[in-house]
Amino acid sequence: MNEKRVRKFGKGSRTCRRCGTHRGIIRRYGLMLCRRCFREVAEKLGFKKLGER
Ligand SMILES: [Zn+2]
Repeated sequence: MNEKRVRKFGKGSRTCRRCGTHRGIIRRYGLMLCRRCFREVAEKLGFKKLGER
């Protein structure tokens, strides 16, 4: 069996703490979430679109 497909992303795996992906991670506000999760969480937190498509 192959090793886990864990790719070190920068120093200290910066991955979405919600779904674990490393695509489009947003560290803004210290959320450490990807855009998808951020969008969902943002709605709950009351954030509006940041102008980012
Ligand atoms: Zn996510």
